[in-house]
Parts: sequence; C-alpha cells; structure tokens
Amino acid sequence: MRLSSRWSTIALTDFVAALALWMAASVGAWAQSGTVTSVRVVDEPDASRLIIELDAAPSFHSFVLPDPDRLVIDLKDVKLKTRLPILGSDHPLLKGIRSAPRNQGDRRIVLDIKAGVKAKSYAVAPNEQYGHRLIVELDAGVVAAAPLPPAPANSPPLRDIVIAVDAGHGGEDPGARGHGGTWEKNVALDIARQIAALISQEAGMRAVLVRDGDYFVSLRERITRARREKADLFLSIHADAFNNANARGSSVYVLSDRGASDEASRWLAERENAADLVGGVSLDNKDDVLASVLLDLSQTGTLQASAQVADRVLSQIGKLGSLHSESVQSARFVVLKSPDVPSMLIETAFISNPEEEQRLNDKSYQDKLSVAILNGVRDYFRSNPLPGTRLAAAESTTGMRAEMASTAPDSAVVSRPTRRGKTQTPASRRKESTPSIQVSPM
Ligand SMILES: [Zn+2]
Repeated sequence: MRLSSRWSTIALTDFVAALALWMAASVGAWAQSGTVTSVRVVDEPDASRLIIELDAAPSFHSFVLPDPDRLVIDLKDVKLKTRLPILGSDHPLLKGIRSAPRNQGDRRIVLDIKAGVKAKSYAVAPNEQYGHRLIVELDAGVVAAAPLPPAPANSPPLRDIVIAVDAGHGGEDPGARGHGGTWEKNVALDIARQIAALISQEAGMRAVLVRDGDYFVSLRERITRARREKADLFLSIHADAFNNANARGSSVYVLSDRGASDEASRWLAERENAADLVGGVSLDNKDDVLASVLLDLSQTGTLQASAQVADRVLSQIGKLGSLHSESVQSARFVVLKSPDVPSMLIETAFISNPEEEQRLNDKSYQDKLSVAILNGVRDYFRSNPLPGTRLAAAESTTGMRAEMASTAPDSAVVSRPTRRGKTQTPASRRKESTPSIQVSPM
C-alpha cells in the first residue's frame, strides 16, 4: 500500500522537511528578517546572472511558471530597499523584472524570461568582497553548462482529487429506522450515490463509493478501502435517530483529539506487524519517540484539514435550513480514524423525525443536500489546492491570468491576490463533544 502522493500538503515527508527547515531557521541568521540592498544583472555570452544582494541569509523559494515563461522568487521576510534594474527590450534572455510585497513582510520577484531560457537559483554566503547573495543563473538553453532543475514537463502527470464516499451501515447492520419504516442504510446509500455522481461530474475530482449495495462492511474495512484508493477525503453519510421525534437537523462530525490519541496508541502498538505507511512514511523502522512524533504530525495535519473541510460543508448544509448543531462536532467514531485521510461524518437529518424521514426519501431533497456537500468540498479544495492535482493546476492558471491582467504594462509591481482560504480551525474541534443526542451505533 502506497500512500505518499495522496495528501501531499500534509504528507509526513513535508512535515519532516518543514521540521528540518524550522530547526535550520531557529539557529543562526535564518530567522532574521532582511533587506535586499541591490539587484543587478550581469550579462555574459549566452548567459546572464541576476544577483540579489541582501544583508542577511535569504530564506527563499523559486519556481518557473509557463505561459508566459517566468521565474518566480519568493523571499521570506525581506524588505526591498533598492530599485530593480531596467532592461533594454533587446535583452537576449529577459523581458523584464517585477516585484511586489507578499503575505506580510515577504517579497516576490518575478523575472519574465524569454522562451526556452533555463534558470536556476541558489544562495551564496558572504566573502571578503560581498555580503549574502541570491544568484539566479539564466542561460539560453543551447549550451548545457550546469545541471538544471527539472522542468515542469518532467513532473508526474496531474491527478484527480479522490473523495471516498461512505454510505453508513449496510446489510445486516441497517442503522436507525424511521417511524415510516425507512432504514438508515438505504437513504445513506441513495445520498452517497448522488454525491458520488455529482463529484464525478466535477473537473479534477473523482469519487469512490466505499459501499455500493446493501451489504455489510466493517468500520475498519471502510477506512482500509478509502486508504487503498488513496482518498484525499473520506465522507461518511448517515441519518440520525433520537427517542424524541422532534429532534431535527443536520450535524457534521470530525474525529476528536481523544479519538486521535487512542488511534495513535493503536498504530504504535501494532506497527511492527503493519506494512502500512502513514502519510507516505513507514513507522516500523523508527524508534518509539520518532514514530510517535511522525504519527502525531500526520494526525495533526489530518485533523486540521478535516475540521476545515467540515466547516465548509456545514456552512453549505446550513444554507438549506435546519442544522442540529451550528458548529462542527467531534466524536470518537471509528470510521474517522485514518491518520492520514481527512475524514468527516455527516448526519444528514433525523430519520426519527417523521418530517425529516420524508425528506430523506425525497429525491429533490437528496439532490439539494448532495449539491450542498459538494459545494463545501469543492470550496475547500479550491482554497487549499493539493499539489500535483488537476484542480490545483487549474486554480493556479486562473490566478496567474488574473495577476497578469491586473498588471499595467509599464508597472514594475505585480499585485497578486491571496488565493489561500483562511485556515481557521473551529474551536469546537478542540473540545470533546458532549453529545446531547444519542448517535446510532456506528
Ligand atoms: Zn448511522
């Protein structure tokens, strides 16, 4: 079972990299904010070098974007206290250089490069003559002088976001029963199928039904199926029941912190036997402390993502009318326990409420509900694009077009809209829920 590419924003490999960066940043000059004191271009035959001088070691990230070709350099926590060089229109490699502030205190420098130009960038430590420098080497691509970073063309093909849709119960586990005789397992399957059909019509998304018929699937098997499909999100569909027939409305659940720590103990206890990877990392060859840190990092990222997507889905369902709980609830449901697949459980309505039972059987209501759930999911993935997915690539293209359109031709400044959504975590996730309702056995 390979899981590494599944949830790359929270993949353990990224966490480890982030941890390493953080540790690097916490020593020496890396954490200091800096100033760009000079930017100059040095031209050589068939090549040019852009030299950015700073008063501290730069923390930066650079990448190439196509159509039109440009090299983007994101400098963390720096001020620009110099003018950018003005290039002649006959420059062999560069069309222009622009810059704009980013986030709070960061700076983006964009080099508009001519077609076919290869670029690589690296930081250089001070010497007797110069201070800290960030150097960008540009060449026409005819003379292969140095190994170049992989071009986007060499990247793995883009993939669809995979959503596992889990119809609760099934077979000899019918779930709750309404007064009119409706079984939870049947409406859950109807709604799950509708959601899956809608998802599969979306560009860049694919749905997998965990159960597609009236048969029993154990709770652990549901998790396993989603992980086998490399799901980016697990949605479990249920209908609530309570002995008071007036109880009504939808609720959305994510795994509680307590549930996550129970599950961590289980993974750690069983890791010797498990060939499973968590977030693309094997735990069985790690010592106890490292394994538990890695697992905790994966779970934390997964819980955060779960809470964020659940929040969006809840607010979309809220537009339909009645919510049983105004905020995302947390509970120790087994199906939500994947350490590396963000998961949520939706109690669509109370099957024990005769009016809601009727709505659960109503195709047009099922449709509205499915659209609301899809809207929440889509909204989340657009605001939090997963690297390597078609959806992220489409979002990035749209964003870049907006960026280019908003830049006057004679302006040196690029203003770039922030496309990332707010990463708020509902306070409700932090506390264990004290359910006032009785949840049907999972
Ligand atoms: Zn249920």
